[in-house]
Amino acid sequence: MKLVFLGPPGAGKGTIAALAKEYFHIPHISTGELFRSHIKQHTPLGLQVEAILGRGDLVSDDITVEMVRLRLGEADAQAGFILDGFPRTIAQADALKELTALDAVLNFALEEEVIITRLSGRRVCKSTGKIYHLLYNPPKRDGFDDETGELLIQRDDDRPEAIHNRLEVYQRQTYPLIEYYRSRGLLLDIDASGTPEEVFAAMRDALNS
Ligand code: AMP
Repeated sequence: MKLVFLGPPGAGKGTIAALAKEYFHIPHISTGELFRSHIKQHTPLGLQVEAILGRGDLVSDDITVEMVRLRLGEADAQAGFILDGFPRTIAQADALKELTALDAVLNFALEEEVIITRLSGRRVCKSTGKIYHLLYNPPKRDGFDDETGELLIQRDDDRPEAIHNRLEVYQRQTYPLIEYYRSRGLLLDIDASGTPEEVFAAMRDALNS
């Protein structure tokens, strides 16, 4: 199953992808995670993109497409994958078309008010990437990861200034992809306002129908 997860930041793509990965036995490829891992390891690419991610702007298409091309070439991605956060521009979608065919594009839709609440309450464990929410999915011990006991952090781009920029960038650059994929008969609309389990069930139903 070759899937793309589309939707605004905060729609829960990462959380649903974690469930879908187990269910379909395919890798979850998040371009945001790949960039964050480069930043954490201080690679040349990491140094190049760190400020861009902090502001909530998009990394250039060339750099992003090349990173995805390499990742999709790895053995575990041959039978299928979930691309989360890629493509984000029409140019990236055109480039992806040259790399591989897709089975479906899931469009996780959510109102802006809910997005802001979700993003501003999000906390993550830096080493495992596990996602929590202060209100909806709090850790067992306030501020600390359930498994590792590490202090949870707020992503720089989940701070208010960056959130507004990311939503603007989404509207301008990524939103047009909905029509792009709809017109190609690949788009499935998913209401992303429920719990992760509800949204995942809706996604499975949509893929089955
Ligand atoms: P995410 O974790 O998907 O919200 O991505 C975090 C950040 O990584 C974004 O705000 C961008 O700065 C960068 N990024 C992730 N995916 C892409 C992409 N497909 N194109 C350009 N920049 C990206």
